[in-house]
Amino acid sequence: MERINFELYDLENEKKLISKEYRKLLRTLKNRLNPSSKKSLRHAFDMAVEAHSKTRRKSGELYIFHPIAVAQIVTEEIGLGVTSAICALLHDTVEDTDLAIEEIQISLGNEVAKIVEGLTKISHMIDTTSSMQIENYKKLIITLAEDVRVILIKIADRLHNMRTMDAMAPDKQKKIASETLFLYAPLANRIGLHAIKTELEDLSLKYLEPKEYREIALKLKETKRQRTKQINEFIQPIEEKLNKLGYKFKIYGRPKSIYSIWNKIHKKDVPFEEVFDLLAVRIILEVPLDKEKQECWNVYSIITESYIPSSERLRDWISKPKSNGYEALHTTVMGPSGKFIEVQIRTSRMDELAERGVAAHLFYKEGKTGNEKNPVDEWLKKMSEKLKASNDNALDLVDDFKLDLYNEEIYVFTPKGDLKMMPQGSTILDFAFEIHSGVGRKCIGAKVNHKLVPISHKIENGTQIEILTSGKQKPNEDWLNIVTTSKAKSAIKNSLKSEIRAEAALGKEILVRKLSAIHAIYNQENLQILVNHYKYTNHLSLLCDIKNEKINLQEIKKFKVVAGIIKLDKPKRIKENNTEISDKDVIQKVKETLKKNSDLLIMGEDSSKIKYSYASCCNPIPGDDVFGFITINEGVKIHRINCPNAVQLMSKYNYRIVKTKWSQSKEIAFLTGFKLNGIDGLGLINKMTKIISEDHNVNIRSISIESEEGIFEGTVKLYVNDIEQLETLISNLKTLDGVIDIKRIEE
Ligand code: MN
Repeated sequence: MERINFELYDLENEKKLISKEYRKLLRTLKNRLNPSSKKSLRHAFDMAVEAHSKTRRKSGELYIFHPIAVAQIVTEEIGLGVTSAICALLHDTVEDTDLAIEEIQISLGNEVAKIVEGLTKISHMIDTTSSMQIENYKKLIITLAEDVRVILIKIADRLHNMRTMDAMAPDKQKKIASETLFLYAPLANRIGLHAIKTELEDLSLKYLEPKEYREIALKLKETKRQRTKQINEFIQPIEEKLNKLGYKFKIYGRPKSIYSIWNKIHKKDVPFEEVFDLLAVRIILEVPLDKEKQECWNVYSIITESYIPSSERLRDWISKPKSNGYEALHTTVMGPSGKFIEVQIRTSRMDELAERGVAAHLFYKEGKTGNEKNPVDEWLKKMSEKLKASNDNALDLVDDFKLDLYNEEIYVFTPKGDLKMMPQGSTILDFAFEIHSGVGRKCIGAKVNHKLVPISHKIENGTQIEILTSGKQKPNEDWLNIVTTSKAKSAIKNSLKSEIRAEAALGKEILVRKLSAIHAIYNQENLQILVNHYKYTNHLSLLCDIKNEKINLQEIKKFKVVAGIIKLDKPKRIKENNTEISDKDVIQKVKETLKKNSDLLIMGEDSSKIKYSYASCCNPIPGDDVFGFITINEGVKIHRINCPNAVQLMSKYNYRIVKTKWSQSKEIAFLTGFKLNGIDGLGLINKMTKIISEDHNVNIRSISIESEEGIFEGTVKLYVNDIEQLETLISNLKTLDGVIDIKRIEE
C-alpha cells in the first residue's frame, strides 16, 4: 500500500469503475437484500471508500478495489450473505486506516463489529510479523474459531491477494505463498471450499516453484487434445445410456490442478507421464433429495456395466460423508483406451457442497430431515472448546490443530456395528479412549476382525474392532507415544497425574510414621525443610520417591526436633562442593557423563516419537550445548550443559541422561532472554527496542527497563530461532552508545 501522487491517475474513470464493481456486488446479492440491509451495505461501502480514499496498492490500483473484490468473492464464490459482504468491505479499515471499531459498531451493529474486530486481530497476528510465531498461531486459531465467517472472509481476502500479487517483490510473494500453502489452503479444504483450496494451491505453487509450475502448465496444455479425445470416447456410451433412461445430468472431464500433479510427482514419486495419464470424469445428477442415494448407485451400476471397475477403488462418501461434509461416490474403472479413469458421481446439491462447503450447508440445512448438524460447525465448536479449556503448551496445540487439518479420517465399527470416525494413523489405544476413557485406561489389546492385536496396532479403514480390557491394566508413560489423538493424550496425562497423587499419598503415610518416631509433626513447614534438604523441587515428587524407597529416610533419625519442627544445623547437601565447582568443571563433568551415555536424541524432527520439552531452569535454544534428562511425567527435558542443575542431575540420575543434538529445523521459536544495563541516554531504550523488533524480526514477549539516576537495568524476554540469532542481536545491541553489559539469563 502506498501513497501516490494522484495527478497521475484518471480519477473520474476510477470513480466509474468503483461504482461499477459495487453494482456487480448488488446484483450478486439481489435476492438476499431487503431495504434495511441494502442501506447498511451502502453505508459500509461509503465508509470503506472514504477510509481507503488516500491509499493505493503496489499495482497502482486504488485500495478500495481490494475490499470490494473480497466482498464479491465472499458472496459470489463462497455464497455468503449481506452481513459478510459488509464485513468484507470493512475488513482492512480498522487495521490500515483511521476508522475506529467503535464507529463501525455504532453505525452497523455489534455483529459486524465483532467480525471486523476478529479480522483485524488476525492481520495483527499474521501480516505484521515476519514468521508465524507459535503463540500467535494459537491466538489465530482461537480467533478463527469464534465465528466461521471470520475464516471465510479471511480466506477470501487471501484469495484476492494471491490473485493480485504480481506487482509485489519476489521475496514477499514467496512468503505469502508459503503461508497460504501452510495454513489457508488446508483450512479451505477443512471447511469444504474445494474450488478455492485448489486455486490457492495452484497460485502458491506459481510463486514458490515458478519454473516447475510453468512446465506442468505447458505439459497440460500440450496433452490437452489427447486427453479430451480419451475422455470423449469414455463419456459417449455413458451419455447415451443416461439420456435413454431420462436422466438430467452433466458429465465432463475433470480438470486436474497443477498443484495436485506437482504434489504427486514430488511427494508420491509417481513418474511424470503416469500422473498425466490419470484421467477423471465427473457426473452431476439433477435428482430430488429423497432419491439421491438410490440414483447415484444406479448410475454407478450403469457405468460399471460398460467399464470394469477396479474393486479396491470404490469410495462411498454418500452413506458416510467426510468430516468436512463432502459427499460423493468415487470409483475407478478401466477406460476404452486401456487406462484407468476415476469417476465421481454426485448430485447437484452434493456438488454445490463440495465447491462451496460450509456456506452451502446453510442453504440446504432446511431441506434435510431431522436436526442434522453441520460437520464444519461441529468441528469448529470442538476446536475452540479444546483451545479454551486447554492448558497444554502452544506447541502441542498447533500440532493437534495441524493434525486435525491434514488428517483424513478412517471408519471403523464397534462389535455392535456402530460406526466410529478416527483420524488416519490412530491406534487401538486411541480407539479405546474414543469409546470411553474408562475403556482406554483398562485396554490391553483388541480383536480386529477377530484377530488379536496389541494396543499399538494402527487401525484400518472398514474393520470391526473389539477392545479387550483388564482390571489390572493401568496407563503408563509409554502410552503417550502410542496414541495420536488429543483426546487419548489428555486422558492418559490425567490418569498419570492422579497416579502420582495416589503414590504421594502412600509416601505421606510413610513419612508421617517416620516423623512421629522422632517426635516431629507432619506439616507444610517440615515438608518444605525436607524438600530443600533432599533437593527436590516440589512436595509431590519427594513423597513419591519416599513411597518408592528412593530416599534414605534413616537420616531423619539424626535430625534435631524442637517443638515438632525439624531443625537442621548445617543443611547437609546431597552433592557436596556443589557451589564451589567452577563453570568449566561443570561442563567438563557433564561432557564426561554424556560420553558414557550413548543414546542420541535428535530434537526438532520426528518429535512424535519422543516427547521432549525445554527445561525452564536454563531455557536452551538451538545451538546451545545440551543434554536430555528423562523425567517421570514430562518425557525428556532438555537442559543446557552449563545449567545450574546439571551437576546434580548427572550425579544423582546418571542413568536418566541422554545425549541430545539439534536438528537443522528453524521453524520453531524459543523463549529466551537477557539482562542488560548501562547509562540511559536520550532515546536509548527506543533504539534498543527498534533493533530488537525491526532489525531482527524477533518477537518480543516482554521488556522491562528501570532507570534510576541515569543508570538503567532491564530484562528482555523474546522468541528466537537459534543461538546465532540471539548472539547477533546481542552484539548489535552492544554497539549502542550507553549499553554497558548484556548477559543471557540463565534461570
Ligand atoms: Mn485485505
